[in-house]
This record gives sequence, C-alpha cells and structure tokens, in this order.
Amino acid sequence: MSDCIFCKIINGDIPSQRVYEDSLCYAFNDINPQAPVHVLVVPKKHAASVMELDTEEDEALLGHIQQVIGRLAKELGIAESGFRVLTNCGPDACQTVKHLHYHVLGGTKMSEKML
Ligand code: 5GP
Ligand code: ZN
Repeated sequence: MSDCIFCKIINGDIPSQRVYEDSLCYAFNDINPQAPVHVLVVPKKHAASVMELDTEEDEALLGHIQQVIGRLAKELGIAESGFRVLTNCGPDACQTVKHLHYHVLGGTKMSEKML
C-alpha cells in the first residue's frame, strides 16, 4: 500500500533497524522503544489488522508470525526472563499505524496491568 509507513519500511523506502526477515514477514526495532527490547513484527502483506487476514493462507501466515516471534525471543535473549506480545487494533487500542504489527517487548519487569 503506497501510503503505508510500514509497507515503505518493508520495501526499504524508509530505513529501519532490521532484526529478522523472510518471505512472509519483517521484524525491526521500534523507533520509540517502550522497553529495552521492543521489536515490531509485521506481515509483508499489507493488512490493517487480523480482521483482514481471514483466508486459509492468512491462517498459515499468522501462525508463521507466532513461530517467528518465539524464535526471535530466544535470539534476543528474552525467552527465559519473559516477554510480552501485543497488537493494537483500532481506535480504543490507540493503533497509530494501520498495518498489522506485533509489539515484542522485553528486557524489563513489566506491569501486571495491561491498561
Ligand atoms: P501502534 O501504536 O500502532 O500499536 O504502534 C506503532 C508503533 O510503530 C509505535 O510503537 C511507533 O513507535 C512505531 N513506529 C512508528 N513509525 C515508525 C518508524 O518510522 N520506524 C519505526 N522503526 N517504528 C515506527
Ligand atoms: Zn502496509
């Protein structure tokens, strides 16, 4: 999608600190980290949220991303201490970038509360 900031990052039109990439997804450091480790994992295919990923192929894509997050957690050294994965969806969740992304946060003790 031409006016999507994360599509531009995936295409290399906007620079990013790449953490991982394969044919289906891209992971990079958040520009404004909320934790010592704050990586965003995004599908290369543009979709605003999980609600737009409803085909069988998308099911495999979403499963793949979860596996990538698990592998990344080990590589980033946060698997043992723990980490948080979240995706903001829509206005109440304060989603600012309308391209599905999973925040992977770790490297610090986080609050028990989500809100
Ligand atoms: P949201 O609020 O939509 O869940 O999260 C969007 C995230 O994207 C924020 O954590 C924000 O810091 C990050 N972000 C926005 N623009 C850029 C950018 O150009 N580069 C990188 N690396 N992260 C960005
Ligand atoms: Zn996009």
